[in-house]
Amino acid sequence: MNYCKDLFAYQRRKSAEVAVGNTPLGGTNPIRVQSMTTTNTLDTEATVAQCIRIFEAGGSYVRITAQGVQEAENLAHIRNLLTEKGFTFPLVADIHFNPKAAEVAAHNVEKVRINPGNFAERRPEGETYTDAELAEGHARVVAAVKSFIAICKANNTAVRIGVNHGSLSERMVSRFGDTPTGMVESALEFLRIFKDENFHNLAISMKSSNTRVMVQSVRLLVARMEEEGMHYPLHLGVTEAGNSREGRIKSAVGIGTLLSDGIGDTIRVSLTEEPEFEIPVARKLVAHFEKREAPSNLIISKVVPIDPYTYARSTSSNLGWIGGNTPPVVMADLTAAENPEATILDLNEILAGAPLPDLFLCSESVSSEILNASRVVIPQEKATDQEIVLLNAKSVGNHKGQALLEVDHAELTDTLIAAIKENPTLVMVLRATSTNPVAEFRSMAFRLREAGAFNPTILKNTYLSDDIETVQLQAAADFGSLLLDGVGDGIFLNAPNIPFEEATTTAFDILQAARVRTTKTEYISCPGCGRTLYNLQQTAGLIKARTCHLKGLKIGIMGCIVNGPGEMADADYGYVGAGPGKINLYKRKELIKRNIPQTDALEELINLIKENGDWKEK
Ligand code: SF4
Repeated sequence: MNYCKDLFAYQRRKSAEVAVGNTPLGGTNPIRVQSMTTTNTLDTEATVAQCIRIFEAGGSYVRITAQGVQEAENLAHIRNLLTEKGFTFPLVADIHFNPKAAEVAAHNVEKVRINPGNFAERRPEGETYTDAELAEGHARVVAAVKSFIAICKANNTAVRIGVNHGSLSERMVSRFGDTPTGMVESALEFLRIFKDENFHNLAISMKSSNTRVMVQSVRLLVARMEEEGMHYPLHLGVTEAGNSREGRIKSAVGIGTLLSDGIGDTIRVSLTEEPEFEIPVARKLVAHFEKREAPSNLIISKVVPIDPYTYARSTSSNLGWIGGNTPPVVMADLTAAENPEATILDLNEILAGAPLPDLFLCSESVSSEILNASRVVIPQEKATDQEIVLLNAKSVGNHKGQALLEVDHAELTDTLIAAIKENPTLVMVLRATSTNPVAEFRSMAFRLREAGAFNPTILKNTYLSDDIETVQLQAAADFGSLLLDGVGDGIFLNAPNIPFEEATTTAFDILQAARVRTTKTEYISCPGCGRTLYNLQQTAGLIKARTCHLKGLKIGIMGCIVNGPGEMADADYGYVGAGPGKINLYKRKELIKRNIPQTDALEELINLIKENGDWKEK
């Protein structure tokens, strides 16, 4: 199975071009960016106004929820009003649970997204299927999809088969599990029906709020499609990514990893914010790959010691504080600081309880009293024998005691690798130097493994932008690619032109988004859509303010009960819109408190967390 043309160069996957109104998708077209409205679809004026804001921000497509036939019918009015106002970019209807709404929408907009998990599925969660029932379920899906395809063909409507990890059908879960394989089989079942009907105006997505599942399922789908001669374009997104820095970083880890692989024809960065805010974020992420090329003279290992479809941390020596199963570390550069001790004290105050970098590279010693659990690394020419020393490629072998060795791919010769292997406690700092750090990191890390050198590795890259968001997105995409494959015992995010605290929190958030180190509460919050039953952005802010100190807890904040409970995936607690002004509260997948007035819901959520022993005072 092959999902990627070249792990050590950047090549976009060759997908088929699909006609979507006046803006084709896939093939050699640019990677399109898109968003989704959060207005009531029956409110034509408000929805049109929001679509215009998204298009003016640079979106190529806008998706609009059509939960019923009435909403699907109103898409015609929205389409007409937008066209009258001069906005002819394609609209996409978002359909769940209602094949009839999909059929109506196919007459009215350029593309319809259907969810195989609920298109024509009826079985409640947790029930098992006999073989005969599985066949019956498949036959029901085939009939419903064929009827829909006929309408799409007649109207030249494109289709996205949008699989979500949180809403797989029980039929698929009972056969393949709640896994990337289950997601892929769900997509393939629909793809084969469309193929049999000779309908190819298709795009596919495989989304999850879990970046690992999202990346593995897309890679697996691409590999399986290649085997079956299918080249449909891919839509990428991380669901329920949240808002602000965390939402951007989580999206960039998932989407950026796949863009690094050359996969992806359109992206949506889902944020619990105004939808037009998603567009510049998506554009910055796409732009990061525009100048990507193969680094020159890269030495390629014969062995690729990762499985792109299954997570396993790469084996490395456990030095107690790094390597083995120790959570990956964060390293930071303080060599430019005039007074490193004062800088560390300031940082400690600004971060207010959030972790400090595990390693500070300093040009002078720092008092151990201010370091807490952090360590200081000193360049060799300034270090004493007691300190952790940073060596370079020319000085390896000259130091006794704990040392780090920083090299780039050109310096990492076979002779040096042999010397590194002789020093198993030497920690490697692998420095990228080109526009394709992912390829460089893979080359260096794989060559060390191939030679049998299991030294812990820290991945280092420098980002020179002075725009904090750009650094967050680029670093998340680059480091995320390696971390999701289990490569790297630490990251060294060098960003000299943004505040030091921003680089630090970004580094820790990247580790959390890649699911390799948890340092804070995780929020799985939906972006909102026409189904949303309360002010999502405001409520998410209030919930965060009260619970942000509950490190390691996952809290789902979802706009509706139609999709919310399923889509909040592995959240420990869920706050879900049940009706106007009413909230349901969940402990994992179990509904605990029903129809609570929203005015009391936050306190009730906190009570629920307390009742289950997961509360801590700030
Ligand atoms: S959970 Fe409900 S409100 Fe939130 S985006 Fe999904 S469908 Fe819309």
